[in-house]
Amino acid sequence: MKRTRKAALLVGLMLMVSVTMLTGCPAARPAVRPVEYYTRPAELTQNPDAAWQELVAGNARFIAGEKAVRDWAALRDAHAAGQWPFVSIISCSDSRFAPEVIFDQGIGDVFIVRTAGNLVDEIALGSLEFSVNVLGAPLIVVLGHEGCGAVFSTVDAKKGVLELPPGFVPDQLKYVVTEITPAAVEAIATGKTEIELKEYATTVNVRKVAEEIIRDASGITDAIRGGEVIVIGAKVKFDGTVSELFRVDATNVDDYI
Ligand SMILES: [Zn+2]
Repeated sequence: MKRTRKAALLVGLMLMVSVTMLTGCPAARPAVRPVEYYTRPAELTQNPDAAWQELVAGNARFIAGEKAVRDWAALRDAHAAGQWPFVSIISCSDSRFAPEVIFDQGIGDVFIVRTAGNLVDEIALGSLEFSVNVLGAPLIVVLGHEGCGAVFSTVDAKKGVLELPPGFVPDQLKYVVTEITPAAVEAIATGKTEIELKEYATTVNVRKVAEEIIRDASGITDAIRGGEVIVIGAKVKFDGTVSELFRVDATNVDDYI
């Protein structure tokens, strides 16, 4: 074998090793496919239904392994002057369900509040009010997810089978469990068991969080009554699929108070 060919083989081998070291696994899958150049429609901040359809379309891209092409530098520059998000999302902090990723959105699109169990307290509610009543987002999404550890653990706690790591003192975690407990109790009362019970509790928890927003954030409730804002309850699975659970608008807002 000639020396140059040996050198080329060596370089090739080193490159393969570096890719494996960088990614943690061989590049078996193709990279996410960029699709057509994306410009955000202007109507999204004025039309709650169009805002939701934008998220549905973005989620379809994510599931298909596609990604809208954006001019990130231009977006950065444009948003130095302010922000005009078209949706406010309250989602779980779970690292597997980042809203911008699963809905394929960019800079300035999504105002996000994330807490364990997608729960809201006074600060979270104030943040949502800011996004809707000050920034003008016409859509709020309460986003639960499959396999939510916060909800599953609360169900286990209510059933008396929760196991904590040795030595772990749940100092502030009790607030998370307390807040999810009504959903866990409602789910346990159905007689469901195992995973079906826990996933049902997650769905109930999404509804209860939406009710809390509508009951305790009057600026948002008024905007819903006025037809300017809707709330969508949704749940995302591990495969990335987001499904709509319920929709609160001017016609049914009183059912959620
Ligand atoms: Zn979770």
